[in-house]
Amino acid sequence: MGACPFLTVKGEGMSLYSIALGSNMGNRLANLGRAVALLEERYFSRLKLSPVLETPALLPANAPADWDIPYLNMVVRGTSDLSPEALLAGLKDIEKTVGREETHERWGPRLIDLDIVLWDGPSFISPTLTIPHVELLNRPFLIHLLALLDPQCRYPGGKTFGEMAHLLPDIDTCYTQSFVLNPKLVGIVNLTPDSFSDGGQYVDPEKAISHAKQLVAEGATVVELGPQSTRPQAVLVDAETEYARLHPILEGLSDDIKQNDITISLDSFLPETILKVLENYPISWINDVTGNLEDRTLRTIAERGLKIVVMHSLSIPPPQRSMLGF
Ligand code: AMP
Repeated sequence: MGACPFLTVKGEGMSLYSIALGSNMGNRLANLGRAVALLEERYFSRLKLSPVLETPALLPANAPADWDIPYLNMVVRGTSDLSPEALLAGLKDIEKTVGREETHERWGPRLIDLDIVLWDGPSFISPTLTIPHVELLNRPFLIHLLALLDPQCRYPGGKTFGEMAHLLPDIDTCYTQSFVLNPKLVGIVNLTPDSFSDGGQYVDPEKAISHAKQLVAEGATVVELGPQSTRPQAVLVDAETEYARLHPILEGLSDDIKQNDITISLDSFLPETILKVLENYPISWINDVTGNLEDRTLRTIAERGLKIVVMHSLSIPPPQRSMLGF
């Protein structure tokens, strides 16, 4: 818990809060990251994070030109036993810790701004706090972010955020760029003779193993092994060939995998490959570029608690000649 005395007062039961974070000074992404870390350290055991959207500063007509610095905005959601007033005091405390000046001009640039935008209790109005936030419906980027976190979440007495985002005419132009907080790097090792970028370079298992270890040493959180090329005009190989390409590398890395020194993602959409790898190696991710895995494999992935990346491309897997009618 932080130093704020207000925070010793607990609300009754748990409440679900959505908090908007904004920054347009200094290292904006780092400021958001710091505030999210403090929220989790002090008041929420686990938060769901939206993406980060960059939006132009909202300014009064007579604002100085140097206030016109774009904001990075995000919304986080989580449960806490704090009352709204206690949480507001906690947010102010975090703003201070991140470095925001106590006195700041309204609309002026700021290192960090934390607002409670929504909670699952009844409308809350006090001299210092209004929930839902009075500006929530005037800010398309907030509607967008809340819809991304949970499209079914409903504005009290109104539409869901998914419906509102769908109806807002300018929702897809309400931000200029998007980011994610704490991105994770995935290092790719293609075990094929013919992939886009590194085809042929790691066919030799020794080279593939040392490249995988080097990627981890250089900061990769996950190393993805690709036994199938998905470049245009690639010829589909069968599960037996995929497994033969994977097996020596997984064997060579098995101690590192067991000791959690390396986290492996398997880039395969062939059930036989996926199930056989899962039988033999404790890998952590499956990357299915077809978005079309059958139930048995999906169930196995779910039962093992693995992460799955689902993608879809009209050209993957490559169409067979017979499907093209020639
Ligand atoms: P600002 O720093 O410009 O976002 O303004 C913060 C002030 O707005 C706080 O001191 C609060 O008293 C007041 N306020 C009213 N409703 C809210 C809310 N839902 N979340 C955060 N601050 C709020």
